[in-house]
Amino acid sequence: MKTIILALMIVASAARAQTASSNNSSLTAEVNSVYPQVQTLYADLHQHPELSSHEVNTAAKLASQLRALGYAVTEHVGGSGVVALLRNGAGPTIMLRTELDALPVEEKTGLPYASKVRTKDDAGHDVAVMHACGHDIHMAALVGTAEIMAKTKDQWHGTLMLISQPAEETVGGAKGMLADGLFTRFPKPDVGVALHTTNNLPAGKVGIAPEYALSNADTVNITIYGRGGHGARPETTVDPIVIAARTILGLQTIVSREIKPGNPAVITVGYIQGGTKNNIIPDEAHLGLSVRSFTPEVRKHLLSAIQRVAKAEAEAADAPKLPLVQVTESTDALYNDPKLADRLGQVLSQALGAGNFEKSPPEMVSEDYSAFVQAGVPSFYFRLGVADPVKFKESEASGVPLPSNHSPFFAPDMEPSLKTAIEAEVVVLRNLLGNGSSSTAGGQ
Ligand SMILES: [Zn+2]
Ligand SMILES: [Zn+2]
Repeated sequence: MKTIILALMIVASAARAQTASSNNSSLTAEVNSVYPQVQTLYADLHQHPELSSHEVNTAAKLASQLRALGYAVTEHVGGSGVVALLRNGAGPTIMLRTELDALPVEEKTGLPYASKVRTKDDAGHDVAVMHACGHDIHMAALVGTAEIMAKTKDQWHGTLMLISQPAEETVGGAKGMLADGLFTRFPKPDVGVALHTTNNLPAGKVGIAPEYALSNADTVNITIYGRGGHGARPETTVDPIVIAARTILGLQTIVSREIKPGNPAVITVGYIQGGTKNNIIPDEAHLGLSVRSFTPEVRKHLLSAIQRVAKAEAEAADAPKLPLVQVTESTDALYNDPKLADRLGQVLSQALGAGNFEKSPPEMVSEDYSAFVQAGVPSFYFRLGVADPVKFKESEASGVPLPSNHSPFFAPDMEPSLKTAIEAEVVVLRNLLGNGSSSTAGGQ
């Protein structure tokens, strides 16, 4: 009896595998047919990275390739942003987004196509430049996807809107494109799609965190005022260094004592500056904080508690002036529409194989794609594994993490990463764009 059941199970699983592979074989062929150009573009983009808000040549390359594929291309949208539209009859408008920018990081991967670019940053410093966040994977994949979608217009209907966004790393690019009329000069999408590389998954796999995927991020600067003087005469001073030290400890109990366990929150003091010399008590001390959360309620609580703690510590020390607490930069949490996550998760699982799709936990990092969601575009934002599968297994066994995004050693496994990105984008877009059936974009 056991043998019969086992035999039936084997037959059933073989049948499943066959269905998955026959569904996939035509898509695999489509991806293979565009891959050589995609790889050339990727290596070129990787070797010629440009810093945030300076993505002039990168944007021009994408614009010319998309124009050649038949897209109606508009350049210089919110800086170096590019909008490429392909209209294909009645139906929803679906947006796919890539970023354009690279980072001031000196590449140490040793790859034959490693970047050797150096430039001056906005402050005039000489810096090396590297695509250390994988935005070159996103761009090259988007062009490959654009080509497949343009060649197979019989398989979808509606409007495909491809956007290339500048300045993601400095979190101003999405807002810049919106302010320049992204959703008024061009159609407002019914659904938005984006992916991001990660070494937390091996190449070939994708993941999605439904609902909150990435966090709110607030940059907070605190100036603490004291009264300076001689280091040997503390009784004549109010020491801002001591107030700063107490403030830091006070800030560290906000998350542990005031936020309900299970509600993710982070307060990191990334820098403390004050003073010039051992025997001088300074007038001021400065703290730089990174504050992370998911929900608006937790965010509000953290920001107001930071004010309260900073003020109370200054008052306790009899400081001559209350501290200045400023929120200098903010990005909203990225929310994945749960219905879209469910529907498109199934689509990806079917196309890539169930073992190549997983629900991932939310992360406390952030990015400005959230600005498009805030502007009213329900979205599907997923993660693309780019780790070399062998190195991924070794890292799991040894417990030594692989280099993360922004590391000088970040090196996506090129071919499977690009191919999986294109495959995933095409199946998601075809599903959202009706796939020849009467279904429309959902999840709203
Ligand atoms: Zn990044
Ligand atoms: Zn990035």
